[in-house]
Amino acid sequence: MNKPATDLIIIGGGAAGFMAGVTAGERKIRAVILERCPKPGRKLLMCGNNRCNITSALPVKEMLADFGDPVAPFLEPALTAFPPSALRDWCHKNGLPTKMQRDKRVYPASEKASDVHHLFTDLLAKYNIGLMLNSAVNRITPLQPGEWLVKTDGVELTARAVLLATGGVSYPKTGSVGDGQKMAAALGHKVTPYRPGLAGFDMPPAWIAANPVRSIPNVKLKIIAGGKAVATTEGFLEIEKYGISGPAVTNASRIISRQNLKNCSFEVDMNGKKWTLHPLRMRPLKEAMVTVGGIALNEVDSHTMESKKVPGLFFAGEILDIDGPSGGYNLQAAFSTARLAISDIARKLKVHSSQRG
Ligand SMILES: Cc1cc2nc3c(=O)[nH]c(=O)nc-3n(C[C@H](O)[C@H](O)[C@H](O)COP(=O)(O)OP(=O)(O)OC[C@H]3O[C@@H](n4cnc5c(N)ncnc54)[C@H](O)[C@@H]3O)c2cc1C
Repeated sequence: MNKPATDLIIIGGGAAGFMAGVTAGERKIRAVILERCPKPGRKLLMCGNNRCNITSALPVKEMLADFGDPVAPFLEPALTAFPPSALRDWCHKNGLPTKMQRDKRVYPASEKASDVHHLFTDLLAKYNIGLMLNSAVNRITPLQPGEWLVKTDGVELTARAVLLATGGVSYPKTGSVGDGQKMAAALGHKVTPYRPGLAGFDMPPAWIAANPVRSIPNVKLKIIAGGKAVATTEGFLEIEKYGISGPAVTNASRIISRQNLKNCSFEVDMNGKKWTLHPLRMRPLKEAMVTVGGIALNEVDSHTMESKKVPGLFFAGEILDIDGPSGGYNLQAAFSTARLAISDIARKLKVHSSQRG
């Protein structure tokens, strides 16, 4: 067999692809990242209103409980292997101090997403991990065990393993448009239906006219479906020009999407003052902060992030059918799954090298 051009091709230069590339560099794996946009990490730069809520200071057990089923059992090995405390230590070691808010959200001390972006691009340069921009991958083909062909409109590259980190399908202008899911589906992977996670809701015009745009702290919100309380969320409720948003509301949206609940109303408690809200509809997927749906979890090994259907194909980040609440959960999931995938890729590539002598 011809020697593949590199060890690993990482498809997607977002949060998961960045962490995968840097971790590959730390492990001395030869890797290149292919990114479809002219600038990588666009969504990362938007995170937390450009302040970047990178993780949570809650214990892993509590985070997993908040992720809920079916995401929590899948994410447990990744979050245990690279928990928030390890992410913060890693940031500090690499020159990015972090700080925790009272609500346990963790940000870079500078509160600048651009500093997180620089951390990754500087480390990719330090480790000589190539980052090819304007390089939308349109096909991945397993040629034989340990050899992949990856094609864009401009180049064809070969590698020993491929990691798909192309994100979900929300905020498509950031580059996450579902390409990775289509390429995995072409190789036989199931993609669960897309729904909005972490989205606001439209409210009736009369309600909007009566309620000026403002931010209400410490709200408790009960989701009522079929006459029963299904779940409770907490936090800020933001009144927007179109209706309602803020963590108490967006966290409710992902529960509604996951459980496929219909005709929900909200009982809202604002420090004793009560409201019953009847939202018209959830805002569209393209405006959601995270995608519910993606690569079906039962077809991916949660201890390695490797496909159970196609050996040598790995996944990390929001391309998978994983989503978490507001509060740093989604970036932590992207970083932890990327670290776990690279650990396994490093182990397997070493095994193959020693077999080849
Ligand atoms: C407005 C907003 C605010 C958010 N704030 C937070 C926050 O504060 N904390 C938090 O935890 N989460 C937050 N999130 C969620 C978080 O940003 C995502 O969960 C996370 O970025 C997912 O990382 P990813 O690498 O899987 O995907 P992405 O970051 O979407 O990266 C995927 C990359 O793959 C590239 N790509 C796609 N197709 C191809 C292709 N065919 N070839 C090559 N490259 C391709 C894309 O261009 C993109 O750069 C926020 C999301 C939004 C939209």
